[in-house]
Amino acid sequence: MSEASIYQQLRGHLAYLRLSAAAEALPAQLEHAAAHHAGHSAFLERLLAVEVAAVETRRRASLDRFASLPAPWRLADFDFDAQPSIDRALINELATLRFLEDATNVLFIGPPGVGKTMLAVGLARASIDAGYRTYYTTAADLVARCHRAALEGRWATTMRFFAGPRLLVIDEVGYLPLANEAAAALFQVITTRYMKSSTVLTTNLGIASWGKIFDDPMVAAAMLDRLLHRSVVFNINGDSYRMRAHRARSETLRNARTQPAKE
Ligand code: ADP
Ligand code: MG
Repeated sequence: MSEASIYQQLRGHLAYLRLSAAAEALPAQLEHAAAHHAGHSAFLERLLAVEVAAVETRRRASLDRFASLPAPWRLADFDFDAQPSIDRALINELATLRFLEDATNVLFIGPPGVGKTMLAVGLARASIDAGYRTYYTTAADLVARCHRAALEGRWATTMRFFAGPRLLVIDEVGYLPLANEAAAALFQVITTRYMKSSTVLTTNLGIASWGKIFDDPMVAAAMLDRLLHRSVVFNINGDSYRMRAHRARSETLRNARTQPAKE
């Protein structure tokens, strides 16, 4: 067989196997191998490395899209000095993602604006970057989705969906009261994940007030039981970061106004 037809066959194999990045890189890699008198293994290694890198990039992009994070926040951007009630060492420990290995849950409890969502999203970001399937939802969205699923006969599929991610963030539990059906949906999601995969949950309600958002205090108790069984809990009691920034701005404006105008 001539060089040219071998080359065509090889292109054909790569296309058939859908190794499109390798196919595209083939001419350059052949040239490189010839120029450097590379052996067969070295050539093949370089060619396949191109495909591996392309697959990896696609996989990251798809994990990223799937996760649906609401903001690009990273743990590194969190200003710990502004929120001294947060144990920085504990956050750093969580950032290693060892907690995913034994399905530990993380609860961020605190009033609005103290960085609960930012920390939850930061952990989710770290988990995506480490290649774990990760998913962000608010409690309201989760409940609405389960409600639709129940109506459309897709309950089991939806439960499998929420059981799937290695890390699930459920943001803003407690902002809205959850009626029986909604509470049951949240309860079942937490139960399907219990002891299998980690859930990060944020709430404005102290654990003692959980009974209030659920009509059925038994459901609230059972849910907390599963969540807390293996968990790390942050009780954040500080000023709202937004208000802080707002106050600082007002302060600057006020000072500017009271300062005598310079010539
Ligand atoms: P929560 O979810 O507790 O209501 P967020 O996480 O949404 O609060 O934080 C509110 C806003 O303040 C966001 O824009 C967030 O990035 C910012 N923020 C809050 N805490 C901090 C912090 N310690 N360092 C940097 N930004 C913060
Ligand atoms: Mg929030």
